[in-house]
Amino acid sequence: MCIGIKQINMNSNKLKNEIKRREYYNNLAPFPVFDTEIIKDMSKLSEIVKKQDYNNEPVCYCKTCLSINIKSVEFESTQAGEERSVDYCVPCGNTEMEEVHISEWQEMYKERYGEDFLTKKK
Ligand SMILES: [Zn+2]
Repeated sequence: MCIGIKQINMNSNKLKNEIKRREYYNNLAPFPVFDTEIIKDMSKLSEIVKKQDYNNEPVCYCKTCLSINIKSVEFESTQAGEERSVDYCVPCGNTEMEEVHISEWQEMYKERYGEDFLTKKK
């Protein structure tokens, strides 16, 4: 698993509130107002931020859709005792991952989806 955050501008409470707000409006509307995949990414981020030990770890994201909603599947060890696991993207199922610092990922995500939820409003 390669999940971590180098630097984050929004604290986890703010992020949690934003997730709640979006989920609330999604529940009210007959169709999701906010992209549910983006909400999942935000949830993932708030989990990462909670850990507080993210300083030196890069964030792992999907090369296809830029999601950080990545899961790791572990297989049985080989006869040599080597552990095997595969990371895959939950939203699109791709297994091609890239690691970057969170600020770089944030820029890419913003460019792709126009979402900049990690940056404090000034
Ligand atoms: Zn993906």
